Amino acid sequence: MSALLFLVVAATIEVRGASSQTISTIDIQVRNTEPQAAVILETAKYNAAKMFRAAGVEVRWVASFDKTPATGLRIVVDVLQHAPSGLRFEGALATAYPFHGGRIEIFFDRLFALGAPPLPSLLAHVLVHETTHVLQGFDRHSETGIMKAVWTAADYRAMKWRPLPFTPDDVEFIHGGIARLAKKQQSTAPTTSAVEP
Ligand SMILES: [Zn+2]
Repeated sequence: MSALLFLVVAATIEVRGASSQTISTIDIQVRNTEPQAAVILETAKYNAAKMFRAAGVEVRWVASFDKTPATGLRIVVDVLQHAPSGLRFEGALATAYPFHGGRIEIFFDRLFALGAPPLPSLLAHVLVHETTHVLQGFDRHSETGIMKAVWTAADYRAMKWRPLPFTPDDVEFIHGGIARLAKKQQSTAPTTSAVEP
């Protein structure tokens, strides 16, 4: 259980605001033991929260997680110093296990080696992309934006200036997935799914 970064989603609350957009509040705990990622993570978390806010998801980063969230919905993210060998997708920057209680692994060496865009922006995008897989509860991608299966050089250039957007379908599946996952909080289905980037 060392060298792990934990990302736990808790207390999903759905309300109807003035805009009629569904808002889900999630608590996320991060544990990071990659020294190079410490400062980067703080900026990445700030950027990731802004990106999720655009999709009607309010992220609360918590320092510790010692209580079972009201919904039981939790996501665990491990920031690994090195990508493990034998990955299903050789070039993957991270892997999500949306059917495994919401585990995510981010391979910091892969992000670092990519070179661009700036690491805080790239880490935010990877964090949001993989967390979205977990929230949606299945392995799907979109033709454009943050949920593309593989970002192009143009996407990497674009994310230097502003976050890649969610598509309307992305947002719909996020909120549908949160509601569905909350109902299946006790599920221990063993299936895993590796995803890119
Ligand atoms: Zn993906």
